[in-house]
Parts: sequence; C-alpha cells; structure tokens
Amino acid sequence: MSDEKTIFKKIIDKEIPADIVFEDDLCLAFRDVNPQAPTHVLVIPKQEIPSVADLADSDAALAGHLLLVARDVAKQLELDSGFRLVVNNGPGAGQTVDHLHIHILGGRSLVWPPG
Ligand code: IMP
Repeated sequence: MSDEKTIFKKIIDKEIPADIVFEDDLCLAFRDVNPQAPTHVLVIPKQEIPSVADLADSDAALAGHLLLVARDVAKQLELDSGFRLVVNNGPGAGQTVDHLHIHILGGRSLVWPPG
C-alpha cells in the first residue's frame, strides 16, 4: 500500500468533506460523489483495508458489521423496493479507490447481469 492517504482516509480524518449518512466507531457511510443511481452510498471501515482480498480472518466481525450497516443505511434511506450492494475488488473489477468500500445502489430498477 502506498504511504499516501487515500481519498477515503482523508474523509475519515475529516480533511475533506463528505455527505455522511451514518457513522460509528468502526465505519462511515457517505454519498458517492458521482452517483450511479438516485441513491448511491459507500460504506467504508475506518480501518485501512485496501480491498476484500486484503481482509484477514480476524476481520470477520468488522466485515459482518459493514454488511449490517449497509442493511441499516438502506432502511434509513427507504430503499424498500430493493437495493444492490457492490464491492469491486481490484482494477479488473473497476476498483478505483484502494480502501475497502461497499456500494449501496438504489432508487431505480437495476438490471442483471451488471456491466
Ligand atoms: P470503486 O470504483 O468501486 O473503487 O468506487 C469508488 C467510488 O468512490 C466511485 O463510485 C467514486 O465516485 C467514489 N468517490 C471517489 N472520490 C469520492 C469522494 O471524494 N467522495 C465520495 N465519493 C467518492
């Protein structure tokens, strides 16, 4: 991992602003700056983990917590008719920020398979 802070670490450290919809000791959820759906939120751990592939077995509780926060944020934002969770892993999957994040997408119908 590079020594330079990722954009998400700067958001965690409150060095740059974000439209935060949820925060606790372990994670942060904020609106994506380039939304791909009417509701597009990112859930990130405060711990610096670059990607799913970098999760350790000892991160199991944190990984589960992120999923439950995504559930709660989807409810908070009233995505009752459906939502999608996406985690891009690695450049081949379109990951552009090397800090683990779960996309929550909702507010429109979502086709399958995704691109
Ligand atoms: P990825 O392509 O799965 O890595 O997703 C990274 C996401 O971060 C993209 O959807 C970007 O639009 C989003 N993003 C990048 N910089 C910012 C920011 O400063 N605030 C909020 N979202 C951001």
